[in-house]
Parts: sequence; structure tokens; C-alpha cells
Amino acid sequence: MRRIRPRRSPAALLLVAVGAGAAGVVWLWWTNTPSVAGNGGRILNAGRITGLLAGYLMALVVLQMARVPALERRVGSDRVARWHAMSGRYTLCLVLAHVFLTMWGYAVQAGRSLGDVVGQTVQSVEQLPDLGKAAIGTGLFVLIGLTSIGAVRRRLPYDTWYHVHLLTYAAVFLTFWHQLTTGNDFAVQPAAKTVWYGLYGAVTALVVWYRILTPVRLNLKHRMRVEAVIEETPGIVSVLIGGRKLHRMGAEAGQFFRWRFLAPGMRFSSHPYSLSAAPRPGLLRITVKAIGDHSARLRELEPGTRVWAEGPYGALTAARRSRGKVLLVA
Ligand SMILES: Cc1cc2nc3c(=O)[nH]c(=O)nc-3n(C[C@H](O)[C@H](O)[C@H](O)COP(=O)(O)OP(=O)(O)OC[C@H]3O[C@@H](n4cnc5c(N)ncnc54)[C@H](O)[C@@H]3O)c2cc1C
Repeated sequence: MRRIRPRRSPAALLLVAVGAGAAGVVWLWWTNTPSVAGNGGRILNAGRITGLLAGYLMALVVLQMARVPALERRVGSDRVARWHAMSGRYTLCLVLAHVFLTMWGYAVQAGRSLGDVVGQTVQSVEQLPDLGKAAIGTGLFVLIGLTSIGAVRRRLPYDTWYHVHLLTYAAVFLTFWHQLTTGNDFAVQPAAKTVWYGLYGAVTALVVWYRILTPVRLNLKHRMRVEAVIEETPGIVSVLIGGRKLHRMGAEAGQFFRWRFLAPGMRFSSHPYSLSAAPRPGLLRITVKAIGDHSARLRELEPGTRVWAEGPYGALTAARRSRGKVLLVA
């Protein structure tokens, strides 16, 4: 059988880079810490390390959802989403460990005990710069973490979960500032501060570019509209979407878009649906099973309804096959 060289994924290389970044963060703490004295010092330094790693992972969590084409198409949206979920869990654990250890460390250094952690936290929020904002950001992280627990997520409509998840941006913004104003490592090393600004600045630029400007450009260029809605079987419809020069989008069979239909009641939600036919110059097709609000309303779409799409995303295309003959089951 003819062998085909599949398109290589840069996943392994990226994971090495992420590991190197984490090692760099620990190295930053190491170079700024000549010695660690006493119980309070040990606890406080554990708080510093967890805080630095949480700050680093937070930037990666946002980067993973910036819809960067190299990640979405070469690594694959499903894999990136799994990385995002895993990094999100680690970030939340590190944030909570950082808060607890730092407050406990301060309490011990002030001659108090573990039981005074809550009082110490309130006092620190009142006295230290930007800690009030960080406390609200931490609360948002906890809320996002709770809605992402499998059992909770399955009970939530996709829209609710998605919009709560968007609060991640607010949480990251609110917790960013205290890292620089109260973080010892950034106070003693201005170069580290510059690197941190660079990291967060680059991630922000990627988010603005790929999540806002790129979709605006795509939709202004292709001007998509619903052509027809076809009932395939009860509860399953195909939506045919027309537009200008759709073949220039670079979409391939096996990929998906996030679709927003500008019809009453549907404007504020965008949902992922895969292409169910290979793209043609003036036509795309999706086929959807009604399982909730959005998917059930697609059958009511009128021809001519404006469509706003983001994509194409996904790496499971013909480029992934390693042999000439492939059987795909959907
Ligand atoms: C990359 C991708 C491609 C997809 N392609 C297609 C497609 O081609 N055709 C199709 O019919 N569906 C597809 N889906 C699923 C589709 O996005 C959801 O069914 C739809 O968004 C549900 O929205 P709703 O408002 O109708 O239902 P909701 O009321 O939001 O959800 C109803 C129930 O389904 C669960 N649910 C919703 N979305 C998902 C999800 N993405 N994963 C797991 N559980 C979920 C909810 O937790 C809830 O229990 C795809 C999903 C992804 C992630």
C-alpha cells in the first residue's frame, strides 16, 4: 500500500519550549533568592514559586485560545483545547496554592499561626497595592474552574459556559498588576519585568489579531449568507452557506468554523460546527443535529440571513493521513 508522509505536528517542540519557559521562571526565583531563612521564609518562597509559575501558565492559557493558525491547524483544535483545559486546571491550583502559601508565610513571619491566614489575607488585600483587583480575579478563576468541572459543564448550555469562560480575560487582567507591584522578583530585576510585559503584550497582540481583526477581515471579504436549510432527517438539518470566493478561505474537508447567524435571538452566540461537504467556490455546508437551543433553531433560519464565521480550524484533514486509502466514519 502506498505510504504518504503526514504533515508533521509541532506539538513536541512546543511542549519543550513551554517546559523551558517554566524552568526559566524557576531560575528567576533562584537567582533572586540568596538564602531562605526560617519556617516563614520557606512557606513564603513556596508561595513565590507557585505565583511565578501561575503567572507564566496564565499567559499560556490565553495563548492557547488565541486561535493562532499554527496551533489550530498544525497541532489541532482538539489537542489545543485539551492543553488549555489541563493548563487551566494547573493554573487554578497554582493560584490557590500561591494565595494560601503567601498569606500563611506572612502570618508566620508576623508571629501568627496557620489559623490567622484569613485575617492575614484581609489585611494584605487592604494594605498592599493591586491585591484587591487580584482577589476579584482569583474569585473569577474559581468561578471559571467550577463551571469547567465535567459534571457541571454537561448541565450548562454551551452559551452559558462559553460566556463565563470569556471572564478569563478579566481574571488575567485583574491578577496581572499585583505580580509586578508586589512580586519581589520583578522589583529586584527590571529585565524580568520587561520580559513579563513582553510575554503578556505578545499574547494580547495575538488575541486581538486572531480573535478580533482576522474574523472581521474574513467576514467583510467573503460576505456569507444562508442559501438554504435542508431537513436531512427529523432533528438533523444541513445549512448551505453562500458567499464570495469561499475557496480562498483555505478551508479543507474535516475542518470546522465557529458560526454566528445574525438572526433574532442568535446574534450573541457562536457555535462550532464542522463542514459536512468539501468546500466549493461559492458554497459551504454544515450538518447539525438538534440537541439544544442553538442547534434546534438552525432549522428556522431564513435564506439570506447574514452569517459571521471564525475559522477554519482543526487539523484532522486529508493532510494527516499516512496511507493512500482512508475510511472516515462520522
Ligand atoms: C469542533 C466541534 C465541531 C462540531 N461539529 C458539529 C457538527 O458538525 N454537527 C453537530 O451537530 N454538532 C457539532 N458539534 C457540537 C455542537 O457544537 C453542539 O452540539 C452545539 O454547540 C450545541 O449547542 P446548543 O445550544 O444546541 O446546545 P446546548 O444547550 O448548549 O447543549 C446541549 C447539551 O449538549 C452539551 N454540549 C454542547 N456543546 C457541546 C460540545 N461541544 N461538546 C460536548 N458537549 C456539548 C451541553 O453540555 C448540554 O448538555 C461540534 C462541536 C465541536 C467542539
